[in-house]
Amino acid sequence: MSRKQQYDAHINSSYWKTVRKLVIARDGGRCLVCNTDKNLQVHHRSYKNVGNEAENLGDLSTLCECCHGLFHSEKAKRRREKRRQKKKAPKNLPLMAMDDRLDMNPASLGRI
Ligand SMILES: [Zn+2]
Ligand SMILES: [Zn+2]
Repeated sequence: MSRKQQYDAHINSSYWKTVRKLVIARDGGRCLVCNTDKNLQVHHRSYKNVGNEAENLGDLSTLCECCHGLFHSEKAKRRREKRRQKKKAPKNLPLMAMDDRLDMNPASLGRI
């Protein structure tokens, strides 16, 4: 079984259904972001305790389907931006360093 299949099986288990109910009840039966009581889902803030959620209810938050979807797309967007910035940095650095050298040493300008 892949990790995804394992996770899907877990989400469909009666254990998860019980934990899910506990979390939604703890959060007052409402989405923590927009306060709706419709289409509630339980979000894993961390996946390190999957399978042991009942002892780690702090890892879980109640969100509605809409806020949950937004939350994950925002997170994915931030991750993509981070990756882009990392790729750019090594290219720009040597150029900037060269400009600095030229400014600091006017003699090198005469050679160009
Ligand atoms: Zn919501
Ligand atoms: Zn989630």
